[in-house]
Amino acid sequence: MSSKELLELIDKTERYLMQQQDLFGNIIYSEEKQTVKKTTEKKNISLPDAPWANCASLNEFNKEINTCLKCTLGNTRINFVFGVGNPSSDVMFIGEAPGADEDAQGEPFVGRAGQLLNKILISVELKREEVYICNILKCRPPNNRDPESTEMETCTPYLYKQIELINPKFIICLGRIAGQWLLQTNSTLTSLRGKFHEFRGTKLMVTYHPAALLRNPNWKYPAWEDMKMFRKAYDELKKK
Ligand code: URA
Repeated sequence: MSSKELLELIDKTERYLMQQQDLFGNIIYSEEKQTVKKTTEKKNISLPDAPWANCASLNEFNKEINTCLKCTLGNTRINFVFGVGNPSSDVMFIGEAPGADEDAQGEPFVGRAGQLLNKILISVELKREEVYICNILKCRPPNNRDPESTEMETCTPYLYKQIELINPKFIICLGRIAGQWLLQTNSTLTSLRGKFHEFRGTKLMVTYHPAALLRNPNWKYPAWEDMKMFRKAYDELKKK
């Protein structure tokens, strides 16, 4: 095998593993014992007694926290990516963490995945400005690695405060990592998607991350089914 062929094989294998990870989660198979170790542990996260706890608006809250250095990501970020959209929206989309484009522009979902998210929104007759979009982490993990659970633990009180201020009727988690983290479960994306869960009194849905849809267009159809399910429930809410 030539080195070019070898590189292509590595690339294909890497893409395949990323797709499997999107579907099945971070599961480590131990061949010796044939056991499965799951890497997400249950975490108890509560709002701390912080100076920002009483902020009454998203703008005020952003100003209070956007110089955060509570974890090491604060040292490597270009921008703190707080969130964007309608501060009193009924719908909140939550991804995992800013990527390079988001870090450069200080806004979530502005890269290729963000452009696909905009199209997904249009497909259910919503505009980006009508919803609220943010991430679990507000700072970019280097080299786009997955967020570490200590980083998510540190950053989650900020997300909870955003949820409290926005008070959405629906939360849509984009991808396995956001879904597993908010629901504190190791369940796979396949078992989490396609239904509503309850999160602190709010309907929460988990669907494919737009970046996963860019890697594997076969998932676009089930993602579309998820969005139709959301739209139906949203219309019912609006009728009331
Ligand atoms: N992926 C995410 O999870 N969030 C972003 O903001 C961009 C890409």
